[in-house]
Amino acid sequence: MSDIRIHPAVDSGVRAGSDSFNGGTLHCHCSDNPVEVTVKAQCAHNHVCGCTKCWKPEGALFSMVAVVPRESLSVTANEDKLAVVDTSAAIQRHACKECGVHMFGRIENTDHPFHGLDFIHTELSDATGWAAPEFAAFVSSIIESGADPDNMDNVRGRLKKLGLEPYDCLSPPLMDAIAIHTAKAKGVL
Ligand SMILES: [Zn+2]
Ligand SMILES: [Zn+2]
Repeated sequence: MSDIRIHPAVDSGVRAGSDSFNGGTLHCHCSDNPVEVTVKAQCAHNHVCGCTKCWKPEGALFSMVAVVPRESLSVTANEDKLAVVDTSAAIQRHACKECGVHMFGRIENTDHPFHGLDFIHTELSDATGWAAPEFAAFVSSIIESGADPDNMDNVRGRLKKLGLEPYDCLSPPLMDAIAIHTAKAKGVL
C-alpha cells in the first residue's frame, strides 16, 4: 500500500461494483440518531474529487462522490439534523449539523447541466456493489486544501496506478456533457 492516502475506499485497490446492485442506505457518522438517506438506484460517474467543497474523510486527499437520479433519493431518518452547507453554491450540500458529514448534494437550478442528479458518498453505505470510482477529478485543487505542491507527481502517479485517470477538471465525457448543454442553451447545437 502506498503512503499517499487518496481515500480509504481506494487506498488498498479499487473494488469493482456489481451490475445487479440496486441501491442502499447511507448513514452519517453520529452514533445516536444518525441521519439516514435511502437510495433506490445504482450510482453513476463515481470518482474521487480533489475540490475543496466535497466532504472527505479525515486524512484523505480526495473525496469520493457519485451521482444518482434525484427521484431515487429520499431522507428516511432524522432529517431535522440536516442543513445546507452553503446556500449560494450550485450544489446544495445537505450535511449533518452534528457530525458534519455531507449526506447528499442537490442542484435546484433547472438550467444547470447536472440538474436532476444528486451527489452522494457511497462510503456512507454498508452495502457492497456500488459502482466503483472511475477517475480522479480536480486533482490540482488538493493544493488549495494544503497538499504539498511538490508531491503532485507522486499523487498523480498513485492515481494512475489505481486506474483512476487524473484530470484537473471533470472527465472528458462529463466536460463534453456540460459543453453540449451550454451549446444547446445557446442554440449552436
Ligand atoms: Zn451526523
Ligand atoms: Zn468535489
